Amino acid sequence: MKDRHCSFCGTHESDANPLIAGNDAYICKNCVFSAYKIMFGDEEALTEADYKLVEHVGELMTPKEINAFLGEYIIGQERARKLLSVAVYNHYKRIFKQHDLDDDTEIAKSNVLLIGPTGSGKTLMAQTIARILNVPLAIADATSLTEAGYVGEDVENILTKLLQAADGDVERAQQGILFIDEIDKIARMSENRSITRDVSGEGVQQALLKIIEGSVVNIPPKGGRKHPNQDFIAMDTSNILFICGGAFDGMQEILKRKAGKNVLGFGHEKKSTAEQEVTMEMVEPDDLVHYGLIPELIGRLPVIASLNEISEEDMIRILTEPKNSLIRQYAKLFAIDSVKLTFEDDALRAIAAKAKVRKTGARGLRSILEETMIDIMYELPDYSGYEVVITAECITEGEKPLYIKTDDKKSA
Ligand code: ADP
Repeated sequence: MKDRHCSFCGTHESDANPLIAGNDAYICKNCVFSAYKIMFGDEEALTEADYKLVEHVGELMTPKEINAFLGEYIIGQERARKLLSVAVYNHYKRIFKQHDLDDDTEIAKSNVLLIGPTGSGKTLMAQTIARILNVPLAIADATSLTEAGYVGEDVENILTKLLQAADGDVERAQQGILFIDEIDKIARMSENRSITRDVSGEGVQQALLKIIEGSVVNIPPKGGRKHPNQDFIAMDTSNILFICGGAFDGMQEILKRKAGKNVLGFGHEKKSTAEQEVTMEMVEPDDLVHYGLIPELIGRLPVIASLNEISEEDMIRILTEPKNSLIRQYAKLFAIDSVKLTFEDDALRAIAAKAKVRKTGARGLRSILEETMIDIMYELPDYSGYEVVITAECITEGEKPLYIKTDDKKSA
């Protein structure tokens, strides 16, 4: 059959998405659906970007569907995944369905704060959500931001990044996701934690607040500093989903102090403060105020989800289970050279143990694997028709792997 595609969205013809032919043009089922909504639906206010999103998500994905998708890429972190799935569902319901009912209650935005140690999957969660929804995503680092007038990046520049991620399509950018990492590093200074910043974080927090709460911001289309003779693009941030992430080192102390206060006067049957188990799941908005975030900003991040430190067991799962796990990626690289790659269980355990020592969460896995694999990959083309078995000693002692001949094609 001739390769035909929709003249509106470019999708190729398939059983799931058949085409209707016109004079020199075709339209697919999804575009018919979107067109119908635009022409006859009660969503007269559907914008170009709505139309694109409806085309992609059709009816909104349910929280369970979102979570199931997240689960294909993210190991563990069940609670955080669930909270994020609901927040994202509510967010897009707010954008697309809020006016379905004859009720003028305004639904507020459900921006998210992810609290968790480095390498626990915060960025990965934001990336995966953007992939599920097919919306643009920009990742910014709060530590690089400064108040206007100081050396560093203006807060508006993170919107420019989102616009660039949307290929310059303002409508699409306005419904995208902005992930702001290291939000804890712009906490204002407090007496018991020292932060070496030349500019107080509070000004940056105020600037961020303005865009997070929803406003129309003039942004320089190419980023950089604003200057008077420049063209600006007006961007409305009210439908952008903000996901902020931070490790919040030192938060345990705040939680312990609070837990200590709460047990005062309860007699001896309660555990002492030091013995009390505090977990990041206990973080409440007032703890974030103590940490140094301004209350107005916290108020704009109503969903607080905490991620756990990755355990050794989960490290092993991360190596092997996700759809695009590191081991699967290496196996593919090897398969292209007709080499079968096998990791012994002890090898996986050794990688996980080594990563745990580095204290960079699951981020350490890649560099450890890379260190081991580089020499093997250097010689890989010589071992076509072999099975390469990685043992624990390859990881711990730098020993060579086992090479087992699987057919007669050895060329080395
Ligand atoms: P951070 O919490 O510092 O933002 P990232 O999301 O950037 O951490 O994680 C770094 C890398 O570690 C990711 O690219 C991913 O490969 C891996 N990773 C971290 N946490 C998980 C997880 N829970 N499940 C699967 N992979 C993970």
